[in-house]
Formats: sequence, C-alpha cells, structure tokens
Amino acid sequence: MEPLDVVIAGGGPGGLAAAKILAERGARVLVLEANAEIGSPTRTTGGTFIQDAQALGIPPRLYHILRRGRMHSAHRVVAREYPTPFACILNVRGVFQFLAERAIDAGVALQVSATAREVIMENGAARGVTAQDARGRVMTQRARLTIDGTGYRATLCKRAGIHSGFNRFGVGAEYDMYAPHYDESETVGIVGSAFAPAGYAWTAPYGNHRVRVGVGIIHGDSTANPAEYLDKFLSQAEKFNINLKGAQPLEYHHGLIPSDGMATKFVGNGILAVGDAAGQPSALLGEGIRWAMRGGILAGNVAADALQANDVSEKFLARYEQQWRKTYGKNLRIAAAINRRIAGWNDAQWDEGIELLNQLNAEQFGHALASNFVSSWTLWALAGNPKLLRKSLNLVIETLKSK
Ligand SMILES: Cc1cc2nc3c(=O)[nH]c(=O)nc-3n(C[C@H](O)[C@H](O)[C@H](O)COP(=O)(O)OP(=O)(O)OC[C@H]3O[C@@H](n4cnc5c(N)ncnc54)[C@H](O)[C@@H]3O)c2cc1C
Repeated sequence: MEPLDVVIAGGGPGGLAAAKILAERGARVLVLEANAEIGSPTRTTGGTFIQDAQALGIPPRLYHILRRGRMHSAHRVVAREYPTPFACILNVRGVFQFLAERAIDAGVALQVSATAREVIMENGAARGVTAQDARGRVMTQRARLTIDGTGYRATLCKRAGIHSGFNRFGVGAEYDMYAPHYDESETVGIVGSAFAPAGYAWTAPYGNHRVRVGVGIIHGDSTANPAEYLDKFLSQAEKFNINLKGAQPLEYHHGLIPSDGMATKFVGNGILAVGDAAGQPSALLGEGIRWAMRGGILAGNVAADALQANDVSEKFLARYEQQWRKTYGKNLRIAAAINRRIAGWNDAQWDEGIELLNQLNAEQFGHALASNFVSSWTLWALAGNPKLLRKSLNLVIETLKSK
C-alpha cells in the first residue's frame, strides 16, 4: 500500500480525535479499527461532563443531561440536586460515529474490520504497521508516524517497547436496558462490599427510557466478578429506590479500563500513544472519553508539527508528553492515588467517606467527580473542614510518595 503520513490503530475517541486534527493540518491519515463498527460493541457507560462535551464539539442531541445524583454506602447516602446541571450520559455509539464522521470530513481514510498486528520497526523507529482484515488478508501500511489508539490493550506500545502495558484494570459488566419507569433525571452510585467490592455499581440514564446499569471492580485489588454482582444489584435495585419495573436488557457490555494511572512513557521514535493506551483516563471513577479526546487533540497537533518539521524523533514527539503531564498530570495523579486508597476501603470507611462527601456543596462535589483537584474550590472546601483537610493531607503525601 502507498506510504502515508500517519497510520492510527484504533477508531475510539482518542484515535479519531488525533486523526481529525492531523487531516485538518494537511496530513494523509488512515485509521484502522479492529471492530466491524465504530462504537460497537459498546464497552463504556458514557458518563461525562457537559462543559467538556461542549468544548469538544459534541452536539447536545448526543448526550442526556443529569439533574440529580445519589451515592449510597452500606449505611449512608449523599444526594445532590443540580438546578444548573454539570454531568451527562453520552449516546456512546452515536458520539463515536460522530467523531468518525468529523474525521472523514477532514479527509481521514477509515478502514473497519482491520486489526493492527505488528509495528514495522527500522533502525529503532516505527515506520507503520502490518494489519489483518476480516478475511484474514495481511497488509503492510508504511507511514512516517504511527499512533497507538488501541485502548487498554496498548498493543502497539507493547510491540514497540514504549511501555509494557497495564497491571491494574477496572473491569465492568453492564446491561443497557429499556426501563420505562426509571427516573431519567437521576444517576445513582452504590459503593461497599455488598454490591461492588473495590469499585462501584451505577445507573446511567441516557434518554428515551434507556438506562445503563453496571458494576465495575478493580482487578488487581479484587478478584470479584462484576457480572455476578451486577445480577445481585439488579435483583435488589428497588432497595435503593431505583425503579426498574418492567425493565429488560437490550445489550450486555463488558470492558476494561486501565487504572494504573498514566503510562510511564507515551512516545518513541516515529510513534506515540493516545487515550487508554497512554493511561490517560482518570482512575477516580474510571472515566476516559474526554481525556482520550484531549490526548488525541494534543498528540495530533504535536504530530502535525513534527511532520511539518520532518522530525518524528522521540525528542520532538516528547513535547506532547511534556504538555500532557504539565496540563493534566497533577489531577490525574491525585485521581489515581484516591482510587488506590478507596479501592481498599471496608464498609465502615465508605460510610465515613460518604459523610465527608456530604460536607461538600453541590459545586464542590461536581469538581471532585470531574477530577478537578488542583483548583481554588479545594482550598475553600478544605478551609471549612478540618477532618477533610486531615484526610486530604494524607492523600497528598501518598501522591507525592508515588511519583
Ligand atoms: C465498563 C466501562 C465503563 C466505562 N465508563 C465510562 C464512562 O462512564 N465515562 C467515560 O468517560 N469513560 C468510561 N470508560 C472508559 C472509556 O471507555 C475509555 O477511557 C475511552 O473509550 C478510551 O478511548 P480510547 O480511544 O483510548 O480507547 P477505546 O475507546 O477503547 O478505543 C480503542 C479502539 O481500538 C480498537 N482496537 C483495539 N486493538 C486494535 C488493533 N490492534 N487494531 C485496530 N483497532 C484496534 C478497539 O476495537 C476500539 O474501538 C468506561 C470503560 C469501561 C470498560
């Protein structure tokens, strides 16, 4: 096949965001997607933040706004109303396909049912990939720059020796249900040993009587099977005032998200990684769509600069990694440290944690969920709350020790 400027493995939000920017800046780009359809099978709940969805150009028709949230531990509950809402649930397949359409409009070539297998390495630099289509035909696609957007597998990073993959994962099992009586303005989270040891259970409505009901458990910290806890959660949902009367699943989802925090390295000679493949999601809730898009945009711009400068060396591409760590590193490290800490909590610790959350006002609660820790709201929240301050200082010390 004719050599290209960029070949991207993975048609998820990270790969597609990078592809669009590169094509807009004049590069010839091919995206290879292993699945037969972009955005399907769905492996993500699609919870995100309205401000980010707007900033990333996702049209309002593709997200459902939440107005209330509740979080239960074994013996406590925190509930918040949002007259000015901040969170939403994406129509995941719709959003991922929209991102693909935008990339195609910018000039990107997209091939579905095409799995990248190996990175072509020459003199220590990546020069494209070999890939296989649905009929087993092997192709060689040479490119000046290769991007790993393969998600939690980080296939190309491992092949090219950028990093060795992840050890700690959020493993999720979820039903996408038709639930005619579910209150679509509200999302509910459940923590504690009964329904989600080392993780949480959730309900995520996304409009038209559709609601995703799932359980995620951190493997690495627990060996519990989320699918078993999901069945238990469904059978006892009423206990939490979750109305699933007459509800039935239309889809079953299963997926993994890296929860190790950022990868040790995202770039090499002629290659870089975006999104989950770079460990860019926030480990706090296991939330990576907006982060993958941000990673794709940043990577796409630095990659376009590198192509224009005719320098795709690791040294040049490192600008991307440096900018990422400078902009998002602190928040993501704190999110990962909190996640490691709370994944080990017992029910009494969760009760205490929910009590602390109860002391945050609605706005502060929203910032915390969005992993905006390094911000002025934190100081205000901590100043008024010695217990929260003590707990937070412990966490900061732990975070500093981890890096
Ligand atoms: C159960 C669960 C719930 C989640 N809930 C949320 C949530 O509510 N909100 C949120 O923001 N995030 C959530 N996430 C995380 C979110 O889905 C990811 O962080 C995000 O999708 C990462 O985007 P990405 O482009 O890096 O990777 P992905 O979205 O994983 O896309 C990678 C793509 O690459 C393809 N691919 C893989 N290998 C190859 C190959 N060798 N060749 C070609 N293509 C390949 C895959 O088929 C896939 O389409 C959840 C994850 C899970 C597992």
